[in-house]
Amino acid sequence: MSKMKKILALVCAGVLVASVAVLAACSSSASVDKNKTYVIATDTAFAPFEYQLPDGSSVGIDMDIIKAIAEKQGIKIEIKALGFDAALQSVQSGQADGVIAGMSITDERKKVFDFSDAYYDSTVCCAVGVDSDIAGMEGLQGKKVAVKNGTMSAKWADSMKDKYGYTVTTFETSDIMYQDVLSGNSVACFEDTPVMAYAISNPDSAISGKLKIINQADEKSEFATPYGFAVAKGKNAGLLQAFNAGLKDLKSSGDYDKIIAKYITVG
Ligand code: GLN
Repeated sequence: MSKMKKILALVCAGVLVASVAVLAACSSSASVDKNKTYVIATDTAFAPFEYQLPDGSSVGIDMDIIKAIAEKQGIKIEIKALGFDAALQSVQSGQADGVIAGMSITDERKKVFDFSDAYYDSTVCCAVGVDSDIAGMEGLQGKKVAVKNGTMSAKWADSMKDKYGYTVTTFETSDIMYQDVLSGNSVACFEDTPVMAYAISNPDSAISGKLKIINQADEKSEFATPYGFAVAKGKNAGLLQAFNAGLKDLKSSGDYDKIIAKYITVG
């Protein structure tokens, strides 16, 4: 009987140790290192989310959001504007700790990244020169279209290329992709709708009034997904938690709305 009790005691102890371990793993104990400078990668020309001033500094909605969160959460950050695909790769290779680049939250990316809560709804579109007679996807038959490497809009373009019979050329940055349409080499380009709409309507933009949107992905499709901040899967959990906490604060204080209104004027 006493042997039985011992076994029972051992089993109970084992269960206790296991439960403590499970609790520790589930608890939100991940924290940021306040002495570390976290490298945050971003895109180069993706206004109004990020773009560069002549002095080389990055500004835009993403930049204001990450800077405000870092300040409130007491995190030191260094922004590196690398381009979209390069930014994602730098996080995967461990050269950067996080990425904020108008990056769409997708199931495919969730295999290699952990995403924050969504912070901006978006979708993708197709645009042509303002004087073009191409009015829909059928008009792209036998023509060349331009996309940006590694993006959702490139994926959308690829998914329709056989149906509409166009060929796709890939560029590293949005500004160079737009230029390919302005030069007449490509007849259309594919881009995130908020970014394209901003570039067309902003008088300071190089393509102001020069392109027009002819189609957008269905809002319910896999191509219409919101933006999130991301870290490499399983890494930098503290940074991700701090971002989410900071984003919540920005939203409840009204600062989030102020940041959006600073760049996007509605109506
Ligand atoms: N939202 C798009 C994506 O995540 C494009 C982002 C970008 O070009 N910066 O693929």
